[in-house]
Amino acid sequence: MAIARVALDCPVYSLFDYRLTGQEIQKGHLVVVPFRKRRTVGLVFDVVEHSHIETARLLYIESILPVEPLPETTLALIEFSSEYYQCPIGLASFATLPATVKRVRYAPPKQQWQYVLTRAGLELTPEQFPARATLQRRLRQSFLANRMLRAADLLALSSGGLRLTETWIKKGWIEKHPDNTVSIPELSLKDQPALTDEQHAAVVKISATLGSFSPWLLEGVTGSGKTEVYFRLIEEVAHRGLQTLLLVPEINLTPQLEERFRQRFPGLTLVGLHSDLGQAERCANWLAARAGEAKVVIGTRLAIFTPLPKLGLIIVDEEHDGSFKQQEGLRYSARDLAIFCARQRQVPVVLGSATPSLETYQNARSGRFGYLRLSRRPVAATPGVRLVDTRGMPKGHKFSEQVIKQLGACLVRGEQSLVFLNRRGFAPALVCGACGWNAQCGRCSARLVWHMTDAGLHCHYCGNQQHLPRACPSCGNQDLKGLGEGTQRLERWLGELYPRAHILRIDRDSTRRKRAWQEMQADIRTQRVDILVGTQMLAKGHDFPRLTLVVIVNPDAALFTADFRASEKLFQQLMQVSGRAGRANLPGEVFVQTQFPEHPLYQALMRQDYRSYAEDLLNERKLAGFPPFVYQALLRAESHSESALMSFLGHAARPPTVNQSVTLFDPVPAAIAKIAGKHRGQLLAQSFARAELQRFLSEWRLHLTANKASRVRWSIDVDPIEL
Ligand SMILES: [Zn+2]
Ligand SMILES: [Zn+2]
Repeated sequence: MAIARVALDCPVYSLFDYRLTGQEIQKGHLVVVPFRKRRTVGLVFDVVEHSHIETARLLYIESILPVEPLPETTLALIEFSSEYYQCPIGLASFATLPATVKRVRYAPPKQQWQYVLTRAGLELTPEQFPARATLQRRLRQSFLANRMLRAADLLALSSGGLRLTETWIKKGWIEKHPDNTVSIPELSLKDQPALTDEQHAAVVKISATLGSFSPWLLEGVTGSGKTEVYFRLIEEVAHRGLQTLLLVPEINLTPQLEERFRQRFPGLTLVGLHSDLGQAERCANWLAARAGEAKVVIGTRLAIFTPLPKLGLIIVDEEHDGSFKQQEGLRYSARDLAIFCARQRQVPVVLGSATPSLETYQNARSGRFGYLRLSRRPVAATPGVRLVDTRGMPKGHKFSEQVIKQLGACLVRGEQSLVFLNRRGFAPALVCGACGWNAQCGRCSARLVWHMTDAGLHCHYCGNQQHLPRACPSCGNQDLKGLGEGTQRLERWLGELYPRAHILRIDRDSTRRKRAWQEMQADIRTQRVDILVGTQMLAKGHDFPRLTLVVIVNPDAALFTADFRASEKLFQQLMQVSGRAGRANLPGEVFVQTQFPEHPLYQALMRQDYRSYAEDLLNERKLAGFPPFVYQALLRAESHSESALMSFLGHAARPPTVNQSVTLFDPVPAAIAKIAGKHRGQLLAQSFARAELQRFLSEWRLHLTANKASRVRWSIDVDPIEL
């Protein structure tokens, strides 16, 4: 008798057996099954002859959802992720699927159409439309730029866009085809910038490995033209009728990037897969990718699980970015899984970055990955970085004389400057000068941050908000002081220094409203802003052509934290921020205000020398026995009860069998020992051998599960990027 082994969306480490009723069920099918008195969707991992459960007790599969079964390679990827990251198979499976196809009532989306300009449509001129017919003019322009549009594009253009297009069909200017059925017009080769020698070499070398597993590090500073290399590779892959998966960090996935791709590849079906999309659109895109129709898939980390039957190439842009690591549930690294997929599918994988993660850099220097460098910026020169020693600065001054002069000169030239500070709010601490009291969150082991906008105290960990006290709750002193500076305070100082300048603050607070950040970007591009003040949101990927001056304010704190990755991250971040200065044809300058100008990190930053600093860090890590020279897994646990937490971690620290090649450290409180009333602790396991650590983890997990500490929530974070 046929039995289907099914993964269900629940925290159980095994599959569930169901009987078939003559259905043609295959591996990879999504099925509806009864489970705990309700109906739910399951994913079939196997179809077997026997179950170790008595036949009479097995329930029947009710129906099969109308979705093509997932390919074996995707099932294998899910299984690998579930095992490697110690996550129950059902949770892992359902974490990877778009929400819509997980519904019991799933129905395939309605027929989608694509609209294509005809020859007659191509010959339309703007003069054919009355001057006030702005929508008609815009529609024509959009079709000319893209050749092909979908209903969603037309509706995005204007609410009347689709209706107008229907009338154009009657006029013979537009043709309507079922989606993804039109053959691709010749890829346009016009407007291709000439490649530098280095770009050319990168394209040739990577192209030569198409059709086989081959990992590459493409190291290139901001503005060195990595994207152009991606474009050429995508073009080559598309010519072979294959698909490219391009993974980008969350914040980089802007409409501009997709727009740039669409303009470059007007005939190519390109879909996005990210959290900004509506569920229906996300599902439709996933289906187009799964059917092999989408030739380019641009997505954030989750897109790594998209079934791509014609995969030809994977690109991970900004591979060092922390957002490729999922921080809850299935705690996977999309970058690491990209390597797994590339090997599984025998395709090349390109990891691109100006400041590669030390893991990737070590793989490149040891010869495991091919190593390609783009050392020159084809357009603008590399920005000059200067270090400003703040130790001699008069008390109360926030900017050095030199920086103030530069900011003023930049205003006079009509160019933009960026003042970078990675702390939002007005002041990071509110203190009483008389008794030393400072405002702490009652639910977290953290200080409250003073926010100016609503004159309140905010906890950045649990979101708790309080009114600013009129006087010190401890001694009654009315003179409370904000210590240190956040972006709001910098914004105010800059406003006082340059009263006529347009200053725009960009951080999580100012961009909370939906689309706020997009509108701000438009303002920056159209020169309505002189000085930008902001956090790391400004560090990444955005190209502001008139931005020529970057001032980095006191980034020193990260040099002295306990996390051994802190200096790597700081260096990556500062290189990225510096890269914002000077694009297009304007040279850029960067000033770093620091108390430790002689620190090797700043010295390397000044030389824009990623490699020498990476070598230093790798030597340190090797001596200290840190990744990438060892492999780590972190047990994270939290509980409202501190004693329950401690006893759970104590139990965890005493596994039944000892694995000689795995070191288990002592339980310690987490960096923030309490958040929202929950105590947090952790325990690190480490080994020189990845396989040994994996063997240990699967035994350890059983040991941890056996402890019925109901008041403790825990998870194992394999290859953690934060300790
Ligand atoms: Zn006081
Ligand atoms: Zn809090």
